[in-house]
Amino acid sequence: MKKSYQVDEWGYYGTFGGAYIPEMLYPNTEELRSQYLKIMAEPEFQKEFNQLLKDYVGRPTPLYLAQRLSAQVGCKIYLKREDLCHTGAHKINNTIGQILMAKKLGKSRIIAETGAGQHGVATATVCALMGMECIVYMGEVDIKRQAPNVARMKMLGAQVRPATSGSKTLKDATNEAIRDWINNPVNTHYIIGSVVGPHPYPDMVARFQSVIAQETMEQLLELEGRDYPDAVVACVGGGSNAAGAYYHYLDREEVRIIAVEAAGKGIDTHESAATSVLGREGIIHGSKTLLMQSPDGQITEPYSISAGLDYPGIGPMHAHLFRSKRGEFISATDQQAMEAGLMLSQLEGIIPAIETSHALAVLDQLNFKSTDVVVVNLSGRGDKDLNTYIDYFKL
Ligand SMILES: *Cc1c(COP(=O)(O)O)cnc(C)c1O
Repeated sequence: MKKSYQVDEWGYYGTFGGAYIPEMLYPNTEELRSQYLKIMAEPEFQKEFNQLLKDYVGRPTPLYLAQRLSAQVGCKIYLKREDLCHTGAHKINNTIGQILMAKKLGKSRIIAETGAGQHGVATATVCALMGMECIVYMGEVDIKRQAPNVARMKMLGAQVRPATSGSKTLKDATNEAIRDWINNPVNTHYIIGSVVGPHPYPDMVARFQSVIAQETMEQLLELEGRDYPDAVVACVGGGSNAAGAYYHYLDREEVRIIAVEAAGKGIDTHESAATSVLGREGIIHGSKTLLMQSPDGQITEPYSISAGLDYPGIGPMHAHLFRSKRGEFISATDQQAMEAGLMLSQLEGIIPAIETSHALAVLDQLNFKSTDVVVVNLSGRGDKDLNTYIDYFKL
């Protein structure tokens, strides 16, 4: 059998993935596992998904040849403009897919957890669109730190419930969401926001995000006369924008797969989120993957200036890309990312999300040839980060 970097039928990417969940959650994930591929293949589902991506999200997003950035780096750089999606990032591709899935499964109530609030907003948005009840769990500390996103969720009609245990951040919100799902297995769907969680979530989310790679292929064929670039570059928090940008190129070895993690203040400072370098194998959020943990196996708090990359694990697809060396993993510090964000703003007139700035920060370290065609996934826009940029540069 041909080696593949896609998930296998048991939910594994190499040795990573699976579904390590409490017994009580089994009926919920099993219902989803047994149905998701069938539902996604239905013409009616495809039609509704594609229609909403087009008319509501604003797809296809442009593949933009960044001429001034290209000249600076010394190769041909295209930006895949996910920042132009409704709500300002790629996350909506997945929440649209999952809310349609929830409807097909007969669910009427949606739960989610959020750290920085971006996934909470994307979930609240599609719940408003579909008139569904929406409950978003969020750590009490994060509620204080991310007030504008809390306000957005409320404006959209969602209920934001504080998680008050532990460190009162993302992992505590995740525990609350799982508890809720166990208690409400019949009417509730749990929308996970990245390629993490028990099988089938990583694969389902990757498939919903794969519209990014699908469009890139079509656009490159038109612009370059071939449907693949020499390299695809994306930032990795949990890994969903990266999974979507890589998806159709995973098994095409002529395409370099480049994953950029957040080094925070530096990988040896204990204030970092560079999971592939610092992490060890363990179980987080129901999946076996690489995660940052103490010697006795406690999950450690990650750090990055960018809230969306501040996650202690990476999805199992990425753990496998790292372990198998199919992916080139590299990290950018807060400082490198912030400077790259300022650079893109002034070279191209595009203010990127700080998450995305990490992907832009490493371009000059990758030894591209002048003839190389490189796609950078511009995962989100920087409006939400303006205060952080302003404070950092004292603008
Ligand atoms: C949430 C977010 C990320 C990180 O999440 P992934 O699942 O790794 O894509 C990256 N960029 C932006 C703009 C985000 O909002």
